[in-house]
Amino acid sequence: MWDNHPPCPLQFTRRATLGALGAAVVAVLSACGDPGKPVASGTDAPFAPESATPTATPTAPPKPTFVSDYTLPPVVDGLAPVITKIDTKQPVVFLTIDDGNTKTPNELQLLADYDYPCSLFLTKSAIQDKPGFFKDFLGHHCLIENHTISHNVNMVKQWGYQQQLNDIAGMQDYAVQQFGRRPVLFRPPGGAYSNAMRAAVAAAGLKAIITWEAKANAGRMDYQVGNSLRPGDIVLMHFRPEFAADLAAFRAAQQAAGLHVVLLEDFLGLA
Ligand SMILES: [Zn+2]
Repeated sequence: MWDNHPPCPLQFTRRATLGALGAAVVAVLSACGDPGKPVASGTDAPFAPESATPTATPTAPPKPTFVSDYTLPPVVDGLAPVITKIDTKQPVVFLTIDDGNTKTPNELQLLADYDYPCSLFLTKSAIQDKPGFFKDFLGHHCLIENHTISHNVNMVKQWGYQQQLNDIAGMQDYAVQQFGRRPVLFRPPGGAYSNAMRAAVAAAGLKAIITWEAKANAGRMDYQVGNSLRPGDIVLMHFRPEFAADLAAFRAAQQAAGLHVVLLEDFLGLA
């Protein structure tokens, strides 16, 4: 009977999708569709019998499977470290999404469907019309980080230390006010940084500047190094109208590379 049908295993193994089950769970994902409805008439074939999934119970969630082999460099001489890629042998990749200009339910739904954790580098000027939209991401293993108040892409050239600090520290306070957590990572608008910015970032209590070598943009992947994702890559995306196409491009690259999406802050021990 459908009423007694075991739920799609995906519901219980979403975290494990990032871990050991790999292709098997992906195959289940493609077979399940809407877990609330029958997927075929007259057969249970798309679903594994309960006896085949002894660990797939709500009371025994799978644990994270990757242990970090990377240590974040400390602040030295008052300067925050700049990280463009995580040096790791683990088959992991990190998804980061910036700014916050578009705010459509589909964006969160896609991340939830794929069970992608992500670091959101948000800008007050982009989100202040609807900050509550981003609170929902916190329930899907995402964290909100600092991408300034103003998103002045010329701040390194135009502003000295104190003005940069005001903008960065102001976003720290806004994030605490809106989301109840003080960010630990900073992404410069446009990616440019300087020692004055590194000093301001450290003074604002942040642990590192996070840049990138790969991005999902205009529905395709762009790589500063090579032509595929590598273990430890930090991938940049944006909240833009092409969000779904960008995420699809990232997903294709992530799966082709055999990498698992994990939360950057988890891997850095900062979550
Ligand atoms: Zn930005």
